[in-house]
Amino acid sequence: ELYNQIQENKGNIRVFCRCRPLKKEEISAGGGTVVDFEAAKDGDLGILTGGSMKKNFKFDRVYSPKNNQADVFADASPLVTSVLDGYNVCIFAYGQTGTGKTFTMEGTEENRGVNYRTLELLFQIAKERSETFTYSISVSVLEVYNEQIRDLLATSPASKRLEIKQSAEGFHHVPGLVEARVDNVKEVWSVLQAGSNARAVGSNNVNEHSSRSHCMLCIMVRAKNLMNGECTKSKLWLVDLAGSERLAKTDAQGERLKEAQNINKSLSALGDVIYALATKSSHIPYRNSKLTHLLQDSLGGDSKTLMFVQISPSEQDLSETLSSLNFATRVR
Ligand code: ADP
Ligand code: MG
Repeated sequence: ELYNQIQENKGNIRVFCRCRPLKKEEISAGGGTVVDFEAAKDGDLGILTGGSMKKNFKFDRVYSPKNNQADVFADASPLVTSVLDGYNVCIFAYGQTGTGKTFTMEGTEENRGVNYRTLELLFQIAKERSETFTYSISVSVLEVYNEQIRDLLATSPASKRLEIKQSAEGFHHVPGLVEARVDNVKEVWSVLQAGSNARAVGSNNVNEHSSRSHCMLCIMVRAKNLMNGECTKSKLWLVDLAGSERLAKTDAQGERLKEAQNINKSLSALGDVIYALATKSSHIPYRNSKLTHLLQDSLGGDSKTLMFVQISPSEQDLSETLSSLNFATRVR
């Protein structure tokens, strides 16, 4: 109910802020935390910026390290439900590398994240509604690295470059991308793992590679109303974005520089699109990056967007934390 109230009062963009716990190394190094969660239940977050200075931010939700995956998903689940009502939805995680983007979206086997819980909920509701609707659910997993799309479910390398096309009805799609039909939640984890494992192929450092590419899961839901025969198609994007951190000056050359420029370009393009939507601009610059172009059907119009801004509590990450929170504030 609370969620619906918020929803009516504002546009279709929500921002949830989540802070990871301090790491053992950070604790043993004696470093402190800069985050104040005192008013977190009201969506207020304080950042201690030095001395006795505090900067305050406001979000739709704030999660402290004490909140678990179920707490987070409980607030995200109304968006997932709306996919079965025909809405397009986009949920993405933004933030510096190491702040928990992958933890929130993918999670771990024991602590499953938004991706798995989303599919689990879709199947559950589909089952509850099976007397009036039939649903077909399929997934694609891809990554965008250096402005190129790679299919993470393809069993053989694509013979041609994957490009985004627009259908006669105006839908955006990627011809040739594998769409894996999933019939029950048991199949889901293995498909998601296959996609995740494919990210490692061809890179010598998996973690580095994944911090420099956007990992995108697209869930297609086709529904048929058994009462009136009406068919609808909706799309849910779940995106683990590349790390938002600025490149160290010492790394500013060659391949690293190119990667960083492409990340910058696509993350600013995403910010620009959401800002243009929030301010009801007449031109929405979707075409400025592969990321926003892919998400086009699920950003704007009557679609719903949720951004997780992920932060670190550590003093050492203060400047990146402020930069992420400012990005998130701009889009909200
Ligand atoms: P990112 O994808 O943003 O680079 P990760 O998701 O890989 O960050 O998180 C970095 C580390 O912190 C991982 O070991 C992860 O398990 C841990 N972590 C992140 N968020 C949480 C959380 N809310 N609770 C517990 N551990 C977390
Ligand atoms: Mg990650």
